[in-house]
Amino acid sequence: MDHRRLVPRTDVVLGDPRLAAACAAFGRAQVKAAVAKAQRRARAGEIEPEGVVAATLEALRPAAPMRPVINATGVLLHTNLGRAPLAEAAIEAVAAAAGAADVEFDLTTGERARRGRSALAALAAAVPEAGDVHVVNNNAAALALAAAALASGGREIVVSRGELVEIGDGFRIPELLESTGARLREVGATNRTTRDDYASAVGPDTAFVLKVHQSNFRIEGFTGSVGVARLRGLGVPVVADVGSGLLAPEPLLPGEPSVRQALREGADLVTASGDKLLGGPQAGLLFGGAELIGALRRHPLARALRVDKLTLAALTATLHAPETPVGRALRVSAGALEERARMIAGRVARADAVVEPVSATVGAGGAPGVRLPSAAVSLPARFAAALRTGDPPVVGRVEDGRLLLDLRAVPPSRDGELCKAIGALGE
Ligand SMILES: *Cc1c(COP(=O)(O)O)cnc(C)c1O
Repeated sequence: MDHRRLVPRTDVVLGDPRLAAACAAFGRAQVKAAVAKAQRRARAGEIEPEGVVAATLEALRPAAPMRPVINATGVLLHTNLGRAPLAEAAIEAVAAAAGAADVEFDLTTGERARRGRSALAALAAAVPEAGDVHVVNNNAAALALAAAALASGGREIVVSRGELVEIGDGFRIPELLESTGARLREVGATNRTTRDDYASAVGPDTAFVLKVHQSNFRIEGFTGSVGVARLRGLGVPVVADVGSGLLAPEPLLPGEPSVRQALREGADLVTASGDKLLGGPQAGLLFGGAELIGALRRHPLARALRVDKLTLAALTATLHAPETPVGRALRVSAGALEERARMIAGRVARADAVVEPVSATVGAGGAPGVRLPSAAVSLPARFAAALRTGDPPVVGRVEDGRLLLDLRAVPPSRDGELCKAIGALGE
């Protein structure tokens, strides 16, 4: 049979009602291009002629715009779901900064001003131990900048073998550091590193000693590591990557290091993420002495890593906000979550929707091993796809054949939508 003659014409395909919504969402040109590709595949015999519309829709799927979702996974900082949801004030600040804004301009004098000075001032106020602060795209960028400015040209970064962390999606901190031209000097063993290990590795080629928080894994048993305080006095700067972005110690997460603590213990430079426990936008935060931060700020790479005005606006508002959604999700009591779960289960009135006590986690490289008591509305696992593809999409987690809609990371303001989504499920 000649496939070519059976392939539907473009105007016929574009007239198919299944493509109307796609034309509205992506514009006719993009849909037409996808149709042409599907027709070529049909002519080549790769798909059936009657599959052209379906193939077009499938090809357009990745082009769909990002959608807001309800995070019922019980993972407070879910990297695939955008990590920290912004505070209301931060969302408003982003909208306000979206047009022309005085990001690098002094309205009083009419002259150029330091870029992002309000965010820098807010960070400096929150961390009085820091002589100066700087903001880049993310924590990985902060580490790359530190390595490029202080250790490029083959100078050495001394780091424990127990702290060579893969941060996710195949990216590893040691490889990131080496990509700047620095050399890594690994010391100690996976489970144990002593101060002597560091001391005997430090030499004339050492640029700095790096301390990386084991933020997404735990080593248990016969272990030993050296804290920032005991790395002082080796004659080289100490750089600490605390990961989560906690500025001050958090009593609920005693194992998480904080920026202020690391500086008090004597770190010369501290790096952290903006969109983890700090609860702000994606950003990399650098805190340290004025001279060191100045050198980083003047390094050519700093320009390539600088953040845009939307990030700066969100960061400033986050730092001024009394509380963030992440902070609320961390602090809400298990009792309050259970009450909400009962309310939702009662309202949807389905025999297969039951309340279950569960454990939530911080996620995104924070507080590994910490379980936060939580409550879920539990449904048969077969409803996972329907909820995920609904409007709004609801993402839960499947455990032991049940779909758990964990409420810890769901703001109470979304409970009504959650009820509606569950109520709309079939049998
Ligand atoms: C998350 C994390 C990083 C990477 O931070 P990004 O902001 O995602 O670039 C680096 N180091 C540690 C210890 C982390 O936890």
